[in-house]
Amino acid sequence: MRASRRTFLQAGAAGLVFSSLPHAPAYTARSRKRAYVLVIDGCRPDELDSGLTPNLAALRDGGLRFAQAMSMPVMETIPNHVMMMTGLRPDRTGVPANSVYDRELGEVRDLDRPSDIRCETLIGRLNRRGHTTGTVLSKDYLYGVFGGRATHRWEPSPTLPITEHAPDVFTIEAALAMHEELDPNLMFVNLGDIDRFGHADLTGTTLQLARQLALADTDVQVQRFIDALKASGAWENAVVIVLADHSMDWSTPDKVISLAGPLAADPLLAGKVQIADNGGADLLYWTGPRAQRDQAIERMRAIAREQDGVLAAYARTADWLRLGPEAGDVVVFCQAGWRFSDPDPLTSNPIPGNHGHPATRAIPFFIAGGHPAVPTATVSSRVARTLDVAPTLAAFFGVGRPAGGYDGRALL
Ligand SMILES: [Zn+2]
Repeated sequence: MRASRRTFLQAGAAGLVFSSLPHAPAYTARSRKRAYVLVIDGCRPDELDSGLTPNLAALRDGGLRFAQAMSMPVMETIPNHVMMMTGLRPDRTGVPANSVYDRELGEVRDLDRPSDIRCETLIGRLNRRGHTTGTVLSKDYLYGVFGGRATHRWEPSPTLPITEHAPDVFTIEAALAMHEELDPNLMFVNLGDIDRFGHADLTGTTLQLARQLALADTDVQVQRFIDALKASGAWENAVVIVLADHSMDWSTPDKVISLAGPLAADPLLAGKVQIADNGGADLLYWTGPRAQRDQAIERMRAIAREQDGVLAAYARTADWLRLGPEAGDVVVFCQAGWRFSDPDPLTSNPIPGNHGHPATRAIPFFIAGGHPAVPTATVSSRVARTLDVAPTLAAFFGVGRPAGGYDGRALL
C-alpha cells in the first residue's frame, strides 16, 4: 500500500516531499496524544445537512457538536487559520485579513510571509515541549504564512491553475503519508476544494454542481483520513477538530460595490486613500497628513455608508473589531448577497463567491476522536470560535498559555 501510494504521488503530484526541521524529537520520547485539525475551507454549516456529506455528518453527530460557531473578523482564510493556531485576536497576531495595504512597501499584498505572524503559535509551543507538528495546507498563501514553523511541512502540489490550490485528493494523500511515515502529535490540514469551487460558483446556482461535487468528494477524503487514524490506532489517543474558517455568500454582477470612485470624488480624500479588497470587506487606509486623519476617517465612513450594498463602516479602532493597525483606518462590510471590487469595479474582483462580511460568519465546528476527553453524541450550546482551537489543544497537551493568556477558550 505504501509503495503504491508513493508511486501514485510521484506520478500524480510530481513527488511527495516533506520538509522537516532538524533534530525532530525521537518517537519514543513523545506523548501518545494526537490532535488533528481539519479545516473544510469555506463550508457553510447547513451544507453538512445537505445529504452530500454523510461521513462528516456522522462524525459530527457522534462527537461534540457546537450548534453555533463563528469565524472571526475579518472572515477570511489567512486570519482565521492564524487565529486557530494562536488562540489570539488579530491585534495580537498581526494578521487581520488576507489582503492589506503594506504602508512600508506602499502596496497592497497578501499576508503570506512567515514574519507576518508576530506572536507564538501553538505549533511552536508544542515543538518547544518535545511534541512534533505537521502542516498540510492546500493553499500557497497558507503554506507561506506558516512557513517553516511545523516539524514537518508539505508544500501544496500540484496546484490547479486559476484556483491555485491543491485538490483535496492530493492534500489527503499527503496527510495520509505524513501520518504513516512521520506521525506528528499535531497535524493542521486545510482542504481547499469546497471554498475554491464556491468562489467559482457563478450565482450559487449555475455552477452549484461543482460545489456539490466538491462537498461529496471532500466528505469521502475526510473519511479516508479518519479510517487511517482508526487503522493505525492513533484514533484512540486523538482529538479531531473539524471546522471551517469562514462561510460563503454569493453575489451577481449587479451587486458589486466599488468605493474607489466615490472616495476619489471627495476633495479631502482624493489620492490619499488606499483600499485592500477582501471580498466581503474593504479595508481603507488614509495616506494623507496625520493631522487630517480623524476628519478623513469620518469622511470615509460617511461615503461608504451612502453606497448601495454597504452594511456598515467602522473605525478600525472600534473595540470589538480588535484588528490592529495592519487593517488600516476604516473597515467596511457589505450586506449579504453583495461583494466589493476595488480599486477597479470590473476587474478587481470578478468572482461571485465571497466571504469576509458578517453574512459569512457562521461555520461548522465539531470535535471528534477516540480520546476519553472527547464527549460522545453531545450538542453544546456554547458558541465556538476559530480562536478556540489553540487553547483547546494547548489544554489537551498541557503546554500552558502565552503571556497575557489566550483570547479564545478551551472547549473540552
Ligand atoms: Zn478560506
